[in-house]
Amino acid sequence: MFLLHQKTAVVTGGGSGIGKEVCIVLAKQGAKVYVVDLSEQSANETVDIIKKEGGEGKSIVIDVTNQKALMAAYNSIEAIHILVNCAGISHIGNATSTEEQDFEKLFNVNVKGVYNSLHAAIPIMQKTGGGAIVNISSIVAKVGVSDRFAYGMSKGAVHAMTLSVAKDYIKDNIRCNSISPGRVHTPFVDGFLKKNYPGKEAEMFDKLSKTQPIGRMGKPIEIAHQVLYLCSDEASFITGSDYAIDGGYVTLNS
Ligand code: NAP
Repeated sequence: MFLLHQKTAVVTGGGSGIGKEVCIVLAKQGAKVYVVDLSEQSANETVDIIKKEGGEGKSIVIDVTNQKALMAAYNSIEAIHILVNCAGISHIGNATSTEEQDFEKLFNVNVKGVYNSLHAAIPIMQKTGGGAIVNISSIVAKVGVSDRFAYGMSKGAVHAMTLSVAKDYIKDNIRCNSISPGRVHTPFVDGFLKKNYPGKEAEMFDKLSKTQPIGRMGKPIEIAHQVLYLCSDEASFITGSDYAIDGGYVTLNS
């Protein structure tokens, strides 16, 4: 089950955290994986791990906000069966404290970046004969979380784009789903704590861990396994869905 031999996968944000683990898991299952990331070093590190484990991987060093460059890079790939849009950034602020340039940055990376990736990959997936797309949204698209105005906006848009793509390309045998993780321990969380709670990182880490009723943050591998399922032929009846993977955050935090 869940084998991906003869399949090619493209994963944005594949150099770190959730995306990195997704790349490693998809490659282990037999997919050839294109690791898309801003950082050459991070992308190459993921490819090195894939190759050490006997898999096939290639780096694409690119900023997902750059449509022209992303189109050129994806167009050099002959077939795309799997697309996972993971690249993303965080931000803290409410509607009044969020500065225009921060709002635009969140929009550019988390919304336009996903649009660019879909825009570039879907025509290739159509030619490939279909495939599976997974977009990484967040619990903040479902529930009000304090000070996540711009970030929540971006993740709500990811969910809406997922529904649109699932509807428009169902005839092309393309399935599109999203995943809404709770807090997952990755460099994203560590960087966020360092930037926003300097000197109080350990205390805040503990506090954020406990906001999941299960009592801890998720692990990137737990998200990667759900991505694997949604990308596999075993999930062939699933499209237009969003999956919570959040230790009970959305449904049990009453
Ligand atoms: P991460 O460890 O920071 O990984 C994100 C990756 O995306 C990094 O390698 C980063 O590169 C890359 N990236 C950022 N901007 C990019 C751009 N413009 N072009 C290309 N690559 C870019 O974060 P993560 O925690 O794994 O998060 C992955 C996704 O899950 C994000 O969309 C995030 O919003 C979502 N998510 C995370 C959590 C969580 O608690 N961790 C919860 C819910 C949803 P650099 O490191 O070089 O900047």
